[in-house]
Amino acid sequence: MAWGQFSVTFAFEPHPAPVTASEREARLVDPAFGRVFTDHMAILHYSEDKGWHDGAITQRVSLTMDPASSVFHYAQEIFEGLKAYRLDDGGLALFRPDANARRFNASARRMAMPDLPEELFLESCERLVLTERDWFPAIEGGSLYLRPFMIASEAFLGVKPSAEFLYMVLASSVGAYWKGGARAVSLWVSHDYTRAAPGGTGEAKCGGNYATSLVAQQEAIRRGFDQVVFLDAAERRWIEELGGMNIFFVFDDGSIQTPPLTGTILPGITRDSILTIARDEGLVAREEPYAIDQWRADAQSGRLVESFACGTAAVVTPIGRVAGPDYDFAIGSGATGQLTARFLDRLTAIQRGRAPDPHGWLRRI
Ligand code: PMP
Repeated sequence: MAWGQFSVTFAFEPHPAPVTASEREARLVDPAFGRVFTDHMAILHYSEDKGWHDGAITQRVSLTMDPASSVFHYAQEIFEGLKAYRLDDGGLALFRPDANARRFNASARRMAMPDLPEELFLESCERLVLTERDWFPAIEGGSLYLRPFMIASEAFLGVKPSAEFLYMVLASSVGAYWKGGARAVSLWVSHDYTRAAPGGTGEAKCGGNYATSLVAQQEAIRRGFDQVVFLDAAERRWIEELGGMNIFFVFDDGSIQTPPLTGTILPGITRDSILTIARDEGLVAREEPYAIDQWRADAQSGRLVESFACGTAAVVTPIGRVAGPDYDFAIGSGATGQLTARFLDRLTAIQRGRAPDPHGWLRRI
């Protein structure tokens, strides 16, 4: 690791009163996802004249911001989500952080925000993880979830790209996403709300995409389902993705399929990893559109044998039931399918350093 060779580095400003070891241990027993935060955060400032400057790993504090800051009004904001793992040999590692850094910049360009040099993205994550090395929950599935994000901080009410930004990274101690193991989830297909349209921001990881998904997710919950599935905006026919996960279909000939990256879905890093693992193993893995009617017909005929959702937080989640306004169907037996379990196994083994890593996805810190 070559810290210090960059023009901008992160000063270390230790928390003057970090939580005690016993309090920390108590919080790490059974952390709810995204609720247990560590003592420190990374912060870095941007202005048009100075570029990126004044980086620090510092005490996690509340922010003081001018209420006219443009993020509050026009939502110029992007974020990422990635995990750090404690490996069996005691080492620490991030999973494909370079891919997150690239996606962060792709999101930044779409939202008229400045690029963050990849080295700074990696350095901020690595330094924060090293600082918070005692915050890994020693439980099955435990990891440190990192949330890098960038917000527009210029105080100005005109609609234009901000001239100032804040980049920060938070760390949150997490256990397995689904309590009690990965049970098959039920999905509500939204025919009313869409998440993204061609030319829109679907492939960017910007907060606005999530704000607009909440009412659809709320509807799914109200109807008794776990998650919402979005269809394409033009025809309401093609399956796109869940509110926060990509989706895969498994067929009786052993092939798998996932919607293509046409600009309206998030290019998931877990999605890409599964496609790569599948192809490495000689499976046929298609990136092709799949229609909601076809999903239903294939599930009923037995051609479709499994479906699963995937993303950083939950890794791989089996789908057991799918419903919309006038249909309701089960996937396979409703339990975790064979390939679903295999992808979850393969991926977690690489992430924990328990399996060969032919693509160099694990970045040791
Ligand atoms: N789609 C959406 C909308 C998401 O928010 C996420 C989570 N980042 C994903 C898919 C999965 O992406 P990844 O595998 O990179 O976590």
